[in-house]
Amino acid sequence: MVTFEQFTGHCESVLARIKKACIDCGRDPSAVRLLPVTKTHPVDAALYAHRFGLRAVGENRVQEAIAKRPLAPADLRWELIGHLQSNKAKSALQVFDVIQSVDSAELAARLGRIAQELNLKRDIYIQVNSGNDPAKFGCELSEAPAILEVALAQPALRVVGLMAVPPLADGNTAAERTFNELRLCRDALESRFKIKLPELSMGMSGDLEIAIKAGSTCVRVGSSLYGARETV
Ligand SMILES: *Cc1c(COP(=O)(O)O)cnc(C)c1O
Repeated sequence: MVTFEQFTGHCESVLARIKKACIDCGRDPSAVRLLPVTKTHPVDAALYAHRFGLRAVGENRVQEAIAKRPLAPADLRWELIGHLQSNKAKSALQVFDVIQSVDSAELAARLGRIAQELNLKRDIYIQVNSGNDPAKFGCELSEAPAILEVALAQPALRVVGLMAVPPLADGNTAAERTFNELRLCRDALESRFKIKLPELSMGMSGDLEIAIKAGSTCVRVGSSLYGARETV
């Protein structure tokens, strides 16, 4: 793990990258938030983020968030960015403020029903496999409207936008295509359903500039802030 001083330096350089990427494409830097990804790291990673002034962290496993969250300040928000199995829907709703990885109509319905039973309101993103990568989670582009329709019918859920993870090895072209497809999907859903889906969660340590150019509003950054992860 990095020290807090190292983390501060890394944060400042990532924020500078975000700012430059925004300026380069004529966007307002305040329209892109940095979500630090603390998965596999000790709880100190989340404490650093909070101490630096960031308001949320991203985790990809329910169990890991359950272990860490009680050790962190209560006003730090926790967002799920990894695949959610439906049998963990209840725990996920209890430990996460935001679920970015809703990828089926069944999961959306289940989350909506359980959130209502628990009297919770949750922001969600629909995760779309807009890079068409068989190795990635996320719904097919063609399934997004049906999932959105189910999610919009859940009073306990608020759909704020879409999330995507690009194919790993294909380099910048695939990332660019994945991000542009996600934005086009969002635009199509907005006009079809006559709603606003303001958030596009896309971009990580290696491709945040490409994502910002394509319209990202949330970059999820792990290794550029905390260094390489131990094996998961
Ligand atoms: C791990 C992870 C990230 C962060 O990736 P880095 O390359 O370390 O910045 C972002 N998004 C998701 C969904 C992840 O699982």
